[in-house]
Amino acid sequence: MSKNQDESRASTTSDENKSSKKNNFIVNEIINFREQSPNTQIHTRFPPEPNGYLHLGHAKSICLNFGIAEQFDGLCNLRFDDTNPSKEDIEYVNAIREDVKWLGGKWDDREYYASNYFEQLFNYAVKLIKLGRAYVDDLSADEIRAARGTLTKPGKESSCRNRSIEENLELFQRMRAGEFPDGAKVLRAKIDMAAPNIVMRDPTLYRIRHAEHQRTGNTWCIYHMYDFAHCISDSIEGITHSLCTLEFVNNKELYDWILDTLGLYHPQQIEFARLNITYTILSKRKLIKLVKEGHVKGWDDPRMPTLSGLRRRGVPPEALHDFCERIGIARANSTVEFSLLEFCIREYLNKNAPRYMAVLHPIKVIIENYDPEKVEYLDIPLYPDTENQQTRKVPFRRELWIEQDDFRENPPKKYHRLSVGAEVRLRFAYIIKCTNAIYDANGVLTELRCEYDPLSTGGNPADGRKIKGTIHWVAAQDAIEAKIRLYEHLFNVPNPDEMLTDENLASCLNPNSLQEVTGLIEPALAKLANHSSVQFERLGYFSKDPDSREGQPVFNRTVTLRDSWKQ
Ligand code: ATP
Ligand code: MG
Repeated sequence: MSKNQDESRASTTSDENKSSKKNNFIVNEIINFREQSPNTQIHTRFPPEPNGYLHLGHAKSICLNFGIAEQFDGLCNLRFDDTNPSKEDIEYVNAIREDVKWLGGKWDDREYYASNYFEQLFNYAVKLIKLGRAYVDDLSADEIRAARGTLTKPGKESSCRNRSIEENLELFQRMRAGEFPDGAKVLRAKIDMAAPNIVMRDPTLYRIRHAEHQRTGNTWCIYHMYDFAHCISDSIEGITHSLCTLEFVNNKELYDWILDTLGLYHPQQIEFARLNITYTILSKRKLIKLVKEGHVKGWDDPRMPTLSGLRRRGVPPEALHDFCERIGIARANSTVEFSLLEFCIREYLNKNAPRYMAVLHPIKVIIENYDPEKVEYLDIPLYPDTENQQTRKVPFRRELWIEQDDFRENPPKKYHRLSVGAEVRLRFAYIIKCTNAIYDANGVLTELRCEYDPLSTGGNPADGRKIKGTIHWVAAQDAIEAKIRLYEHLFNVPNPDEMLTDENLASCLNPNSLQEVTGLIEPALAKLANHSSVQFERLGYFSKDPDSREGQPVFNRTVTLRDSWKQ
């Protein structure tokens, strides 16, 4: 094992982390809750809105909600918060299911939809009207916004605020019956237009939207607001801990008001910080734009921070769990370095991905003292330096490909790879010495003439002489051409979430985020199943892309190797 690999393996703390899960403040609150209510089963939920694909931010929420349920022997529901008919789609529902499953979330038969509660929610709204706590308003959304006031100025009451209960009931039924066009009326909670918390200034509960819903079709033309549905859905499902991101702190007072006024059971809401990552956007609205405008190939483009993109890129779910564990749960927003995610990916793949050889920028080597008819099928370990003894057969012949960068005409000091007169070890094969470099009429290097040391089986010199450099190789006759996709950050600014506007998207994109090269790979690689993760020795971790066809493999670079051998 190289020194660098040693160091990186020695610095692994993920196993320790797993066995002694750090107690974040949410876990501590739940421990307290358990002490007070030992017989209550902990029940959380993951509540995505099916208006896009899940991304890394959702991974944090999935790990948290499903993780807490697992840790405390509780349950976690998958709830689709499908309250906005115009932006939601069954494609998203299916993708979300697949992504949650991929991350290990188990919800058994507890897959719920806010849309299943539409009738119940409507009845609760009627109840609020009957209690004199909700009214139908004729103001438009803009007028309501304008009359809301500011932090220092109270809002203005609408002239519809004091409609009678009977009139409100009648109007609300007529809203449901489809008698009014979009925007003509809304149902508002009757709370306090001078409340210090602006959310409490008679918030809208229902609006008219003549739109087809992906599950309820045209049954409804009035749709509730997220705030109304969310707290009641949590209550209906008996959620004990409603974990949500910080921007909902101010909405808590409204949730309490709705549930108290209706006399419903209260979950405990706990807010945590959203995940932000450098060079990444985590907003479905912006991600949709990248897809719809064709800046990426789709939701699962390996450059996307979506879970389907990361999966296609070859990121193992275990690395995402490790990442979420390491970033922890905090009460204050902060931004995590993308390199931490890459570190977690390497940590996992370093131990779990089998190793193969591939050459991305080839130059031909001809071993002049090796029989042109001869081929040796070498048994080369898939997991070198570990207890796993599995091997694969790798053909070795007179003509090989090596990386152009592993030869220098004028080697700098301490360059331990190939140059004319120098010796190098071909990984797990033989030692070769370069005798001549051949150039064409334009002075371009075309091939390297070498001699091998037949006694250096496995790359070990029989006389014990020191060979410092080791390079990878592929036998030319057996090599298979493969499309190799090399990725960099999609954005060229470290904080795209702050920088991006609707106008400047294109200028924030990194023009080099995808580079495709034709590499030459050892035959065993072509036989792997799609999505297999491997290490190309010295080059990085790669994953076989589903675009692969028989005899035409395609690989995605998941992440580079920081711990390549010292040269
Ligand atoms: P987006 O802005 O991408 O649409 P969202 O919060 O509106 O995000 P939802 O589908 O409503 O997306 O989110 C489902 C769950 O995932 C919520 O509980 C939400 O708090 C959580 N979540 C979403 N984004 C993040 C993030 N960046 N960090 C942590 N949790 C997140
Ligand atoms: Mg949302």
